[in-house]
Amino acid sequence: MTGDRTSGWTRRQALQSLALAGAAAAWAPRGLAQAPSRRIGVALVGLGHYSRDLLAPALQLTKHCRLAGLVTGSPGKLPEWQGRYGVPDRNVYSYDDFHRIADNPDIDAVYIATPNHLHKPLALVAANAGKHVWCEKPMAMDATEGEAMVKACRDNKVQLAVGYRMQHEPNTRRFMAMAKERPFGRIIKLRADAGWWGWRDGADDAWRLDPARGGGAMYDMGVYCVNAARYCTGLEPLAVSAFDETARRDLFKGVDETMRFRLEFPDDIVAECVTSFGRNLNTLQVDCERGWYAMSPFQGYEGNAGRASDGTVFEPQLGPRPRMQAEQMDQDALAILGNTAPRAPGEEGVADLRVLDAAFASARGDGKRVEIARG
Ligand code: NAD
Repeated sequence: MTGDRTSGWTRRQALQSLALAGAAAAWAPRGLAQAPSRRIGVALVGLGHYSRDLLAPALQLTKHCRLAGLVTGSPGKLPEWQGRYGVPDRNVYSYDDFHRIADNPDIDAVYIATPNHLHKPLALVAANAGKHVWCEKPMAMDATEGEAMVKACRDNKVQLAVGYRMQHEPNTRRFMAMAKERPFGRIIKLRADAGWWGWRDGADDAWRLDPARGGGAMYDMGVYCVNAARYCTGLEPLAVSAFDETARRDLFKGVDETMRFRLEFPDDIVAECVTSFGRNLNTLQVDCERGWYAMSPFQGYEGNAGRASDGTVFEPQLGPRPRMQAEQMDQDALAILGNTAPRAPGEEGVADLRVLDAAFASARGDGKRVEIARG
């Protein structure tokens, strides 16, 4: 760990870490050796863009994790991965023999970074194998699947954390605190836009255009809007009206290219959101009765920064890359070691999926208002 990273830790985090280490000494989660100083052995499941470019490099920056295993359906990728990260053959699995991970004490947690339709089945295999589950967003295809994942992890006494990396970013955490503090009085309106331009024929990750594999902008980027609207208000939305504004129907068949949606929260708060695979969008603004605060970008891998109407500046976080994912995995590892709840537990993913379920239903009904199921 570099000095820079150490200085990024607040005194509260350091105290929390010490407290967790103490708690861990008294209780060891399933499959985990007693010593809290031991790093959590993580197996990456799915060796695509996110695992290759972000998670594996981030694991090298963590303090409480190590890359211990690989799960892939593409054995041709293994020589490079094993050569670069020193993962032994005994810790390498295919999707077919993934369940054998139950017998591997080197691996404490699996990090699922596959196309979205595989999140639930793979999470169930991992939970039944007694491994903690870290899962990318969106957590599953719908709330029913997400609930099954929560139950499987609870039944097997393993943790379930969703890869909501923004919830580990300092400016985002400040916005989350402001949901409670309300420094500018009542929240009136919120705007969250998240999207990226880049879809073309022949894109490698064609599953993002496939409805059966969880494709579409709403699953990929809309979850950032939904999650932000929930963490900026600290409230659960009551209803949604969503409009599918896909322009390139020849390319986007059965999945949304652009979705516009409006969330109704308690206290008459409204969130207006746009998500898209056809436009670069990355802004979040919270309008209150006596001012506003905003971030742009608000869901970047780095450089998330903003300001407020009173002149406050939210400086971007500096440090080695990819810092955010490293902090996320360290926090989730500490939660396992200390038997405390992760910052973004499975229930957080399910809450977002309830909103997505209602938004898809609304869009199918040409924007009719749909009430969001309660937990
Ligand atoms: P990707 O297409 O680059 O990688 C997916 C991997 O899954 C590939 O290695 C592929 O071989 C494998 N795979 C296994 N079964 C497959 C199947 N049936 N069809 C297609 N591929 C299959 O995708 P990615 O960008 O790495 O995304 C993976 C997950 O990570 C998604 O859930 C995505 O939403 C999430 N993600 C999160 C972030 C973030 O910032 N939190 C960023 C990117 C992706």
